[in-house]
Amino acid sequence: MATHQFQTEVGQLLHLITHSLYSHKEIFIRELVSNSSDALDKLKYLTLTDDKLKEMSFDPKIHINFEEGDEPRVIVQDNGLGMNDADLSENLGTIAKSGTKAFIGQLTGDSKKDSNLIGQFGVGFYSAFMVSDKIDVYSRKVGEEITWHWSSDGKGEFTIEKAGDDDAEADKLDGPGTRIVCHLNEEGKEFANRWQIQEVIKKYSNHIAFTIFLTYEKTNYDDKGEETGKETVTEQVNSANALWKRSKSEISEEEYKEFYKSISHDGGEPLFWLHTQAEGTLEYTTLFYVPKTAPFDMNYAEYKPGVKLYVRRVFITDDEKELLPTYLRFLKGVIDSEDLPLNVSREILQQNRIMTNIRNASVNKILAEFKRIALEDPDSYKEFIEQYNRPLKEGLYTDYSHKEDLMELVRFKSTKAEGYTSLAEYSERMLPDQKAIYYITGDKESTLRNSPLLEAYKKKDIEVLIMDDDIDEIVVPGLMKYKETDLKAVNRSDAGEDLNEKADKKKEKDTKPVVEKVQKALGDRVKEVKVSVRLADSPSCIVVDESDPTFQMQSMMKAMGQ
Ligand code: ADP
Ligand code: MG
Repeated sequence: MATHQFQTEVGQLLHLITHSLYSHKEIFIRELVSNSSDALDKLKYLTLTDDKLKEMSFDPKIHINFEEGDEPRVIVQDNGLGMNDADLSENLGTIAKSGTKAFIGQLTGDSKKDSNLIGQFGVGFYSAFMVSDKIDVYSRKVGEEITWHWSSDGKGEFTIEKAGDDDAEADKLDGPGTRIVCHLNEEGKEFANRWQIQEVIKKYSNHIAFTIFLTYEKTNYDDKGEETGKETVTEQVNSANALWKRSKSEISEEEYKEFYKSISHDGGEPLFWLHTQAEGTLEYTTLFYVPKTAPFDMNYAEYKPGVKLYVRRVFITDDEKELLPTYLRFLKGVIDSEDLPLNVSREILQQNRIMTNIRNASVNKILAEFKRIALEDPDSYKEFIEQYNRPLKEGLYTDYSHKEDLMELVRFKSTKAEGYTSLAEYSERMLPDQKAIYYITGDKESTLRNSPLLEAYKKKDIEVLIMDDDIDEIVVPGLMKYKETDLKAVNRSDAGEDLNEKADKKKEKDTKPVVEKVQKALGDRVKEVKVSVRLADSPSCIVVDESDPTFQMQSMMKAMGQ
């Protein structure tokens, strides 16, 4: 038997993990399952590519069992690639990744500070020492005959030896693979429990591509409630269906819809979805769904984000609002990255370059898809706009970089179109010499449609957008232009350009005495009285000076105490 020292950094890491991560100790199951899944992935690849292994019968699976009692244990076993003595010493005695090594060199030893940083890398195998006072690893590498036994209490040393012929544990490996036996400590004994294990698996590893089996003792009862004996049951505990990783062409519409239900907590249907499998510098998969009906909490500040983050099919979080911009909070789905570290923390996620790239690419893709649907499937787009026009408008002032795209996507009511119209459609309908896009804002559609301000525009056959959504008042003035055309509110004094308001000098002269009288009567209550050509049937109307805030803005500012 050979005794080895852990590399110094492993010692530091072990210390750190046990002192900083104990509140998340359940993750050791996720980490062990994820390693098994990696080992199965690797062997699967070899059986597909290595001539020597092509004939091998390979039924990849992960097996978990546990023992309660005085010596509680949790055991995770896989029939994956396996490790020989050199692999064991290298993989479970050192930290191979140079980035991690450099990172650990920077740690301060102050567990409070370090715990914020530790999320930057996968804590991996060593996290099992949070819940174990000893770990035995039995492993046989594919193509080799010897089963090796690695053992450690996680305190500085580990041993490696050939497993003896009479070693009952080693015998449980009947081919290549790895069996990891955690001897649970006080902190960990709660995990020698069927429900605990099932819950952690469901939470983190449900979509691992391989089947996970759990073996437990089941007590049987007769109809009188008398115990009739025990039975050992082995049951699949994950859905083993990382749908998003499957090739798009192999997934049926029905499967997409089923999956939507399983992740959205929505009994209804998705309106449409967008599945992207990106390869290249960054490898990731995204599957986003637009619910047919907007999530009930969409307009609450405390909404629950609908996108789950996975790293290599391992669940990371479903509570991260930064995965997509807030105005896309109605989307449901998954992001699965091949490049992020497993234990990526919230702080790290928000400034992580990989995550930023995925997020930006996703927003571009999503907005492009909305645009495509608007063009190719107007009926769906109409349904979409009825639910999501408002969050998209929010995007107009929160996501400046996508302002152009969002301007194509939002819709408004209009004096000329049935239902909703786009700015592009308005532009097409503009009169040959029309100088601006006109709109009127307010809170009641019928009042706006009957406003005296619109009379002259109607007479001249100029279209006016009817903006009765309270967010329009905040968003639209900030847009200034659509492409090259100015956007102008009809209740602003400079909006008369197309009505030749300024040109009529003679009228101005004729009406001067009346204007002066009215001005005098109104006194300080108005800034100025002017002759207008804007009106057709009504005698007067109130407008706002170009440089002043509009009525709605004024009352909003008043409400805010300004
Ligand atoms: P990571 O998974 O990020 O590489 P871990 O600490 O989780 O880090 O695991 C360290 C290494 O140990 C793995 O990269 C792998 O080479 C090896 N290993 C761990 N568990 C297994 C397993 N079940 N089968 C084969 N190799 C394993
Ligand atoms: Mg790992």
